[in-house]
Amino acid sequence: MRKLFFIDCSKAAECCNKSQYKEAKPLDKMKLFLHLTFCQACRKFSSKNSKLTEAIKKSKIQSCSEEQKQAWREQIKKEFAEDNV
Ligand SMILES: [Zn+2]
Repeated sequence: MRKLFFIDCSKAAECCNKSQYKEAKPLDKMKLFLHLTFCQACRKFSSKNSKLTEAIKKSKIQSCSEEQKQAWREQIKKEFAEDNV
C-alpha cells in the first residue's frame, strides 16, 4: 500500500502542474512533497512554480535539518522494505 505514496518524477511534475492550477488533491500534494524531499531534480523543477514553492516553505520541508531528513528516509525505507517482504 505504501507504494501508493511513492511517485516517479513524471507523476511529480504532473502533480506540480496540477497544484499550480489548484487541481491537486491534498493526497497528491502530500505525495508530491514526499517526492520533493527525496528528489533534488524535482525540487529544482518545482522551484519554478512559485505557488508550490510557497507551499513547501509553509510545510517547512526545506527547513528540515539533514538529520531530520535522514531519520525520515530511514523510517520510510524501513516501512517500504517491510511492505516488500
Ligand atoms: Zn523527481
